[in-house]
Amino acid sequence: MSVPLLAVENVTKTYNNDSHEVVALKNISLSVEKGQFVSIVGPSGCGKTTLLEILCGLRTPSSGAVKIKGETITGPHKSIGIVFQEESTFPWRTVLENVEFGLQMQGVGKSERREKARRMIAMVGLSGFEHAYPYQLSGGMKQRVAIARTLVTEPEIVVMDEPFGALDEQTRLILGGELLKIVEQTKATVVLVTHSIQEAALLSDLIVVLSARPGRIKELIRSPLPKPRDATILTTPEFANITQRIWSSLEEEALMFGKGN
Ligand code: ADP
Ligand code: MG
Repeated sequence: MSVPLLAVENVTKTYNNDSHEVVALKNISLSVEKGQFVSIVGPSGCGKTTLLEILCGLRTPSSGAVKIKGETITGPHKSIGIVFQEESTFPWRTVLENVEFGLQMQGVGKSERREKARRMIAMVGLSGFEHAYPYQLSGGMKQRVAIARTLVTEPEIVVMDEPFGALDEQTRLILGGELLKIVEQTKATVVLVTHSIQEAALLSDLIVVLSARPGRIKELIRSPLPKPRDATILTTPEFANITQRIWSSLEEEALMFGKGN
């Protein structure tokens, strides 16, 4: 078997909070293939953010390993681009300057980075707003900037923690559909944490359902939905079927969580 692009091997994470230990993740193993869109869903507090931070090399696992193309990562890795949960644009930079930032860090020359940034701004639907500042934009537009800023550097793997979490369902599905188009064009591999079942069903090839804390892999759901996809898929019986499968898997966990486990 070929080596997967990204592999999580038997990862366990325990936090030591003063006097007591919190087991956040337990024995997580997962393979992500090149070009796959993987969503991680699970009840609040089950360790989704912890798992993403470990994936990105921002946090070390208590045991187990994360490998990129077979090599264990020991810190932030150049193949990974991150879009965080909270709005993460620089308020003092214009849209264009925000999107150029990563390229600037990579030492890309001014005219090349301008051109790349403009192209990416067009892809996320923000042409005409190049010189606007984040405070002049809606929440959805700011998230587009954050996404453009990460994607413009063409990371092999894009990791996102509830990037549309603060948006209404309609906006998040529209943005999700646009993200799909961009990902198809750039051939990026995506690992996304979301609490929206619809979003997971719309976007993913593989949905990873985590159990209530400590997060374990409860179920891997492979999507039978054809690609490319757009919003017309939302009304099909196949879409209803997959959202139902995700929901019933999650519901059991939510109920258990509610009982104080
Ligand atoms: P999720 O993103 O699924 O809501 P988190 O990964 O943020 O879950 O948290 C999982 C568990 O680990 C929670 O019980 C949380 O309190 C704990 N935790 C998260 N981050 C830390 C930290 N930096 N220090 C100690 N405990 C933490
Ligand atoms: Mg989280």
